[in-house]
Amino acid sequence: MKSIVLLCLIFLVLTSHANDSPKKSVQQHTVVATSGNQSFLSSFIKGGQLYLDIPDHLLDKSILFTCYGRMRRSYMQVAWSKHYGKIVLKRQAISSTSGIILPPSNGLVQMDNILAIFPIETADDTPGHHRVNITDFILRQDIEWPQKMGVSLQNTVPKLSLLLGAKDMDNEVLIKTQRGMIKNKSKVSVPIFFGFGALGPPMESRSFDFRMGFYADEKMEVRFGLKNGAANIARWRLEKKYPDQEISVPIKPITFLISPEVPKKWRPYLKAGIEEWLPAFESAGFKDALVVKEVDSLDQWQAHSIHSNVVYWNQRKYFRGSEYEDYGGTLGHIIDLRTGEILRGDIFMGASERTVCEKYFVRAAPLDKRAQRFPFPDALTGRLFQVIAAHEAGHVFGIMDANFGEYHYPWNKMNDSLWLRIMGHTPSIMNYTRTNNIPQPEDSVPPTLLLQKVGPTDRYNIQWAYTEFPADMSAEDKRDALERMVRWQDSVPWYRFNINQMEVVGPNASDEVVETNDPVKSTKLALKNVKRVIGLIPEVSSGQNEDGRMERLYDKSIQLWNNHMLHVLTLVGGYDIHYKALGQPGDQFIPIPWEDQMEALDFLLENALEAPEWLTEPPFLERTGYSTFPDHVMHYQQKLVLDMLTARRIKRMENLEKIPDQEGLVNAYIERLQDGLFKELKEDFGHVDRRRQEVQMTYIDYLGMVFKQKETVMDIQSRFFVHSDYSKGIMMQHLLDLKKEIENRLKRNKESATSAYWQLCLKKVNSVL
Ligand SMILES: [Zn+2]
Repeated sequence: MKSIVLLCLIFLVLTSHANDSPKKSVQQHTVVATSGNQSFLSSFIKGGQLYLDIPDHLLDKSILFTCYGRMRRSYMQVAWSKHYGKIVLKRQAISSTSGIILPPSNGLVQMDNILAIFPIETADDTPGHHRVNITDFILRQDIEWPQKMGVSLQNTVPKLSLLLGAKDMDNEVLIKTQRGMIKNKSKVSVPIFFGFGALGPPMESRSFDFRMGFYADEKMEVRFGLKNGAANIARWRLEKKYPDQEISVPIKPITFLISPEVPKKWRPYLKAGIEEWLPAFESAGFKDALVVKEVDSLDQWQAHSIHSNVVYWNQRKYFRGSEYEDYGGTLGHIIDLRTGEILRGDIFMGASERTVCEKYFVRAAPLDKRAQRFPFPDALTGRLFQVIAAHEAGHVFGIMDANFGEYHYPWNKMNDSLWLRIMGHTPSIMNYTRTNNIPQPEDSVPPTLLLQKVGPTDRYNIQWAYTEFPADMSAEDKRDALERMVRWQDSVPWYRFNINQMEVVGPNASDEVVETNDPVKSTKLALKNVKRVIGLIPEVSSGQNEDGRMERLYDKSIQLWNNHMLHVLTLVGGYDIHYKALGQPGDQFIPIPWEDQMEALDFLLENALEAPEWLTEPPFLERTGYSTFPDHVMHYQQKLVLDMLTARRIKRMENLEKIPDQEGLVNAYIERLQDGLFKELKEDFGHVDRRRQEVQMTYIDYLGMVFKQKETVMDIQSRFFVHSDYSKGIMMQHLLDLKKEIENRLKRNKESATSAYWQLCLKKVNSVL
């Protein structure tokens, strides 16, 4: 009873906050004007100590506190207050225009939280301002930033911390330090910048919509699944300079500085990558919305100002241990969480030249003569960096990594130059599709059309997020206009957004390959190119005094082969996805036709679980290998078998059985899979290849594991990983059938060369039954 009363009280407190009208919420904290004559904070260093002067008019006003690590960005809204002769720095709760309050600390239901308390330096306490010494706070305190992927200042080592400088800028104070801390079990002293900046008036926000692929304001920190939580999307403040014009220049364009650390020869390509988005912003009504400047020098204070957006060239690739990291790039954001306004966005170009070239080689070498010799010409390598810059720029504008419109481009348009020129081979640069490897050499597709670029869905996304509505338009009309744009997805399927929540639900959600409306057909074409690529490896690797390149290219080709197979597998137990609100007609998840699922299964049995010799035994391996270990192809085959049988896939299939006349699908699937896997049993005990033996044993082992799964799992989330008793029963029946089949065959073919192997198989079956 007591606990019920307590719960009710908590509920009342929570709902009373949540019910604040958005307008009222915003006004709960007053902010500092970004222009005018009133002074902001000012800093000075004396005797190695850092002092801040806080003008009276700034007390209790919300400002932004930022922190810059190498590739991480952190920020929070804070206010300075005076309390009985002391100055208190508080982290504030943020009243979002979406109508909810973002707490000052997870789970804390209060409007602020104390970060630090400072004595007022009385000697300097002149009228109109208060002076505090913040050296300890900046150099030694473990400040807990709210961003999960933000800067971590944990495990401080104070004796390794240094104050390096401070600078007052326009409505901004920046502080440069080197912070001692323990990272990777080592004591290190790393450069960290801090900043205090004024917050402008809140911009007009746009509500989060689960059907669109934009980050919610807090990015990684919030996930609503297939629902709309109270949140804004993250987007820039773009306002038309001439609101009457259909297409106007913005009052303030989004401006990027390409850091001087970017090698000069690549700068024009990074610029071009960002500028690929110009037409997208035009579709939202903005001309020249982006400005990209190449600079030969960049002042460190300007580089860390809240007003700069910098494209960095990750220096890790120049250091041993990380020189060959394979990732493409990443980004950093600083967001005004009241509205979702992106205040600053940085791009970190990660990939090395070697990485981008080798990834291109394994997809496009047969289709692009320039890629048949290393090093590639700069004009090609530069274009590969351009693709990464364009993708990261999409993040900077607020768009997530996702699988936009996949499974809807026609497979037979992937070699059509006209289609590729207008539509590209994937609707969005934000998809992990990579280079188009479906055209055949005889299609003579110009190589520039093989590269991923900003596409129709990217333009659509920017249009939805950035279109400015007339000032006198009612909130309801704006909502309706946005809803109409979301509904364009009904007729243009490649505008659809979907993102893997917990599982790859179907062919709209695959990565690393070109996703078409017929994955089997397009994979057949792509595999022809993978075969050609493997044929090209010896030539591009000759002239090297070691085998590194050959091994890498071969490994990457096998990986790509596997990705193609995983793409086909998405059809099995798969659904087409179209996120919809309840009022929209039709289902969100549309089953892939059963014939297509079985076609995919047959394809995998034939091409993946029986790997072709051109893949497993290329001639160049004879010279370099001395053991069957490691066997990457077999490793992928074994993983594929497990993936074919996971509880989540089988449960999706069980769901299909609810459709009239579709009973018995799980049974039909397991039967067809097992028959295909053990087809040698029907072939009079012919030779069973070494890899096939491992794959067959993996199947039996896995079923054994399924049978051992805990009988009763009460935690609903854990059931995601556990097979139903219904499917366990079907698997058991088929394993019993397999046992009988092996026994019968052994009786008839005692002297067969492989009978010992089948004895082993039988032993394993018996051990798991
Ligand atoms: Zn990304």
